[in-house]
This record gives sequence, structure tokens and C-alpha cells, in this order.
Amino acid sequence: MQRAITDFTRIGFVPPDSLHDAWVLRVPYAYPVYYIGYAEKVRRVKEFLDTNFANLHLVGRTGSFRYMNSDGVIEDALALSNYLTGQMNEYIDVSRDYKVD
Ligand SMILES: Cc1cc2nc3c(=O)[nH]c(=O)nc-3n(C[C@H](O)[C@H](O)[C@H](O)COP(=O)(O)OP(=O)(O)OC[C@H]3O[C@@H](n4cnc5c(N)ncnc54)[C@H](O)[C@@H]3O)c2cc1C
Repeated sequence: MQRAITDFTRIGFVPPDSLHDAWVLRVPYAYPVYYIGYAEKVRRVKEFLDTNFANLHLVGRTGSFRYMNSDGVIEDALALSNYLTGQMNEYIDVSRDYKVD
């Protein structure tokens, strides 16, 4: 924890005395894992959702099951919201560039 405090204060992210506690939260499935055969399973899930929920849009890291960073996720969400609000005529799937299969 001391290292985090030192680093955060050094870069001016937080005032020196403002951090009092820290914890570790281990989140299952935090990363999309590209094990052998995953692509076909993801394709089937997406096909099912596309077929049954026409107004459901999958974006973000988990939604796209692609190893996106925050900037790509935000760009993708903005692209979709611009499309849904009529500001863009077409939704361009930003996550497609992250495709690994
Ligand atoms: C350990 C780690 C380090 C990372 N480091 C960086 C980094 O340095 N730089 C960087 O750019 N990116 C980093 N990333 C990636 C970045 O965190 C993700 O790309 C980004 O947070 C994905 O945003 P998201 O909105 O798609 O998903 P998330 O941020 O995961 O948001 C999904 C939300 O949906 C909620 N949710 C899930 N299921 C349900 C449900 N059934 N009902 C309601 N809510 C639900 C979750 O609680 C969560 O709040 C890191 C990721 C991890 C795991």
C-alpha cells in the first residue's frame, strides 16, 4: 500500500494524507480468455443474442469479448450512442480491430 500512496502522491493524483485503506478485489472473468475453441462459442452466443434480442447491442470488453483497453471501450460506446441517437448513420464496431481469431 505504501508504494501505491507514494506513486499516487508523486504524480499528483491524490493529496498525501487522503489515502487510509486499500484492498484487493479479485474479479472472476476480468479478462477475455482466448482458449482454443473460444471463437466458435462466442460466435454462437452472439448469434443467439442477435437473433433473439434485436435491440441489444454488445460493446465494451466483456460485451465484445475482445481484449480492449479503456480508450477503445469509450470510443466504441460513443460510436454506438452516436448511432442510436441518430448523430451517425452507421455504427462502426471499434472492437473489430481487436479481433484475434
Ligand atoms: C487488471 C486490469 C488492468 C487493466 N489495466 C488497464 C490499463 O492500464 N489501461 C487501460 O486502458 N485499460 C486497462 N484495463 C482494461 C479496462 O479496465 C477495460 O478495458 C475497461 O474497463 C472495460 O470497460 P467495460 O465498460 O467494457 O467493462 P467494465 O469496466 O468491466 O464494466 C462492466 C460493468 O458491468 C457490470 N456488470 C457485469 N455484469 C453485470 C450484470 N449482470 N448486471 C449488471 N451489471 C453488471 C460490472 O460490475 C462492471 O461495472 C485493465 C483491466 C483489468 C482487468
